Amino acid sequence: MIKKSDSRSLSRLIRRLMNLSTLFTILVFAVIVTILLSVVIRPLAQLGAQLVAHSTMREMTSPAFPENHGIRKLTDLSPASPGFEAWWKTVERQEVVNYRIPMIDGDKPLVYDEGREMPRALHTVDIIVELDGRELYRSAYLSQDGTAEEALAERNGLYDYFNKPYYAPILDDDGKQLGLITARIYPPLLVEIVGVTAALMLLLGLLCFLVNYWLGRWLVRPLLHSMHQLRGVFRRLADGDVDELFEKGVRMDRSYLEIEGIAEEADRIIDNTKMYMKRLQEQNEELEAQQEVLMRHATIDGLTGLINRRHFLEMIGPRLQEASVMLLLMDIDDFKRVNDTYGHVGGDVILEGIASVLKESTREQALVGRFGGEEFAIFVTGVTEAEVRQCAEKLRAVIEASAFDLPDTRSISVTASIGIAYTDTRYQTFEELYQQADVALYESKRNGKNRVTLFGDSSMRLPG
Ligand code: GH3
Ligand code: MG
Ligand code: MG
Repeated sequence: MIKKSDSRSLSRLIRRLMNLSTLFTILVFAVIVTILLSVVIRPLAQLGAQLVAHSTMREMTSPAFPENHGIRKLTDLSPASPGFEAWWKTVERQEVVNYRIPMIDGDKPLVYDEGREMPRALHTVDIIVELDGRELYRSAYLSQDGTAEEALAERNGLYDYFNKPYYAPILDDDGKQLGLITARIYPPLLVEIVGVTAALMLLLGLLCFLVNYWLGRWLVRPLLHSMHQLRGVFRRLADGDVDELFEKGVRMDRSYLEIEGIAEEADRIIDNTKMYMKRLQEQNEELEAQQEVLMRHATIDGLTGLINRRHFLEMIGPRLQEASVMLLLMDIDDFKRVNDTYGHVGGDVILEGIASVLKESTREQALVGRFGGEEFAIFVTGVTEAEVRQCAEKLRAVIEASAFDLPDTRSISVTASIGIAYTDTRYQTFEELYQQADVALYESKRNGKNRVTLFGDSSMRLPG
C-alpha cells in the first residue's frame, strides 16, 4: 500500500522535474538567442554602418549636394577651380565613390532630411561628415547641437551594444587627413525584437509552469484517486469488513494498467480468501461434529446414555458445597447370574432398562451416572433426609416391580441394592461421600440385598 504522503511527494517530484526541464529549455533558448545577437547581428550592424558611410560620401558628391550648407570650400571643388582635381582624387582614393563630383551650377541644393521622421527601419544610421575641421553634414537622427561625440553619447545606453561608431577618414593626395566620416548604426527594431523576445520567453516560461503544474496534477490526481480507492479496499480487507468486497469484488473508477493489475490481484485474493473461508467453514463444521462425537464418547456411556463416572465427578465437583447433599450408589443384585442365564445381551437389556427407570424417577436437577459395570450413582442437593429415604425406597420398589423385555419374548426382573450418603450441614469431599455411600451399599448387600441403607443408620463404620 502506498502511503498518502508517498503519493503526494511523487506528484511533487513529477511537477518539479517538469518545471526544471522547462527552466532548462528556456535557459538554453536564451543562451542561443544571445549568442546569435552577439556573434551574428553585431558584425552585420557594423558592416551596415560602413556601407552607409560610403554611400554618404557618394551623396556628398552627387549633383544635389547642398549649395548653401555653409561649406565654402566646396565651390573650390568645381572642375574649373584648382582644388577640384585634388578633391576628386581625394574622394576617389576612398574606393567607394563611383560618381563624379557634380558641377555646382547655382541650382537650389537638395534640402536634406533634417527634422523629418525617419521610418522605423531595421538599421537606422547616424552620419556625421567633417571636412577640413568643419562639420559638413549630420544625419537628422543626431542632435544639431554639440559635437558628433556628444551627439553619439546622447543615445540610449541600451543601443550601445550596436552603436559603436565607424570612422572613415577623407585623405588628400599626400595622404593627409582632410576630414572624417563618422557613422554609427543603431537598430531600434533589433533592440525591440530582443526586448519582445525576452518578454515572450518570460511569458512562455510562466505558461509552461502553469501548464506543467496543471498537467502534473492532471496526471497525478487520477493516479492518487485510484491509489486512494485501492487503499480503501485493502483497509477494509485488513479490518475484516469484507462482506461487500466478497459480493462485488474490487471495482476501480479509473483503470491504469498497473492499478488495474493490482485490483485484479486484490480480486484474486478475495476470491481465494472466499474459497479458503468456505473450506475452513466446512472443515470447522466437520471438526465440530467430530468433537461432539468425541465429547459424547468421553462423557456419555454408550450403552445406557447416562453420563460416565469421569463426567459425573466433573459435574458434581462445584456442587458439593451446596446445602443438603446426597450421593446414592446402586448395584444390581446377582447380575452375574443374569449374564449367565440370559447372556450378555440380556444383561445389557437390564442395564439399559434400569438406566431408563433412574432417569424417569429422578428430578431434573439430579445427576444420574453409570459408575461401573452394573453400578449407578445419583447426586442430588437441596433435599431432606426423609425425601432421600422415600425416593430411594421408591426407586428400589420400581426396579423390583419392573420387567425388562428381551429381544425374544422373554422378560427379566431384577432387584438392586442401594447405599446413600447424606449430609445437610457440613461440607464433605467426594471421597468421604463415596466411602459412606459404598459402606451403606455394602451394608444393604450384607443384609440380604434389594434394600436401601442410609449411612449412619446402624453401626456402620468407614473402613480403615
Ligand atoms: P452382587 O449381588 O453381590 O452384586 O453380585 P453380582 O453378581 O452382581 O456381582 P458383581 O457385582 O461382582 O458382578 C458384576 C457383573 O456385571 C460382572 C460382569 O460380568 C457384569 N457386567 C459388568 N458390566 C457389564 C455390561 O456392560 N454388560 C453386561 N451384560 N454385564 C456386565
Ligand atoms: Mg457390582
Ligand atoms: Mg452386582
